[in-house]
Amino acid sequence: MNQKTTEKDFDIIIIGAGPAGLSFACSLANQNLKTLIVEKSPISTINNPKADGRETALTHNSLKILKKMGVWDLIDASKVSPLKQAKVFDGDSESLLNFDTKKSKIDALGYLVPNNLIRLALFQKASKLENLTFINDLSVDDINTNISESSITLSDGQIINSKLIVAADSRFSEIRRKMGIPSMMKDFSKVMIITRVSHEKPHDHTALECFNYGHTLALLPLNGDISSVVLTVPTDQADEMLEMDEEKFCEMTSDGFGGKLGQMKQIGQRFSYPLVGVYAQKFISTRFALIGDAAVGMHPVTAHGFNLGLRGQDILSNSIIKAIKTGNDIGSSIVLKEFENKQIHLSRIMYFGTNGVVSLFTNDAAASKQIRRLVLKFANRFPPVKSLITKHLTESKKSNLIPF
Ligand SMILES: Cc1cc2nc3c(=O)[nH]c(=O)nc-3n(C[C@H](O)[C@H](O)[C@H](O)COP(=O)(O)OP(=O)(O)OC[C@H]3O[C@@H](n4cnc5c(N)ncnc54)[C@H](O)[C@@H]3O)c2cc1C
Repeated sequence: MNQKTTEKDFDIIIIGAGPAGLSFACSLANQNLKTLIVEKSPISTINNPKADGRETALTHNSLKILKKMGVWDLIDASKVSPLKQAKVFDGDSESLLNFDTKKSKIDALGYLVPNNLIRLALFQKASKLENLTFINDLSVDDINTNISESSITLSDGQIINSKLIVAADSRFSEIRRKMGIPSMMKDFSKVMIITRVSHEKPHDHTALECFNYGHTLALLPLNGDISSVVLTVPTDQADEMLEMDEEKFCEMTSDGFGGKLGQMKQIGQRFSYPLVGVYAQKFISTRFALIGDAAVGMHPVTAHGFNLGLRGQDILSNSIIKAIKTGNDIGSSIVLKEFENKQIHLSRIMYFGTNGVVSLFTNDAAASKQIRRLVLKFANRFPPVKSLITKHLTESKKSNLIPF
């Protein structure tokens, strides 16, 4: 990877060196394409990303993509926690929906990896790429595209040209707006608070999702008797939860899980994330594509944001590689349309499906409570429905889970 450049012409410009932008750069590794990635943050936030509380649940398909890119092996295996079972509770009911790998052909529903370790591995891979130039500390302030070429203007006034521009500049993408691509935004008016805890009893690598009335509590099992606790509360209660003393916070979370894991002890910082979902109306324009959260910013409850972003960049890079092999223009509408057609359908299902689940499970009206209990019971007892949900959530072709 080269840092800084006097070059003014590239094949591809990527805006944003978050997980989606870096993944895309890694997917184009061996293509002899002159690629530029522009990141507005300082290099230290990219080459040494700090823990941010997120334990990213990766699907089987994501693992496949990360392995193909040569990134999976750069992640410390001792920090990867397999997710063997997941249980969903509603209010104070017994578990209503269970997913278990014991009787299935897969060894885990997914794999939990600290988000900063994914970002670190992606950077380590990207930093070895000879075809990649990295500019940081400067933002992309403007973008222009037409049928024959495209260009960006950096915050220091430099103009750089390319055949294709790919924006991975977060769910609040300024570049998406500048390209005139409308998006739907959903402010859930909720905040997700995350921290690591140790606990007395083993979790057996089982994730718990408790839709308690008034708030949602989830437990993501990490290696050892350690878990990530994820508490979702209305925004006006967030400060209270963030400031609550540790003993009281742990008592509240232990009780929230019905004491299943015994006493809990907070062993990490508390992080908070305001919840806003975003869905771009289209993912492409002239010599331009959106990937990652800039295309679809998911509510984290189904743990699909990065998985979807990884899938999207994989599809786009495959379309580009196909164009190179056939001698076609990598920024042509044929290449971009192929990417959009393959990615937009699943994204729509995941985005609106997730928002539907969130609405149903966080509405405490009596009718909603009844409907969700019925939905959970039906999904649990009807194997084809359960198998379908699992296939979507794990992205595994072998996940014919059997209800228990
Ligand atoms: C609490 C939480 C839990 C989650 N859990 C999961 C999970 O279990 N599984 C899962 O798959 N996903 C999960 N996600 C989602 C996942 O974290 C995101 O989908 C992913 O981080 C998005 O990556 P990105 O690269 O698209 O965007 P970002 O990480 O937002 O990166 C965008 C980058 O672009 C840069 N940038 C912005 N504008 C410009 C500009 N104009 N010029 C230059 N640079 C610019 C920014 O500085 C930033 O570095 C979770 C999210 C949250 C909040």
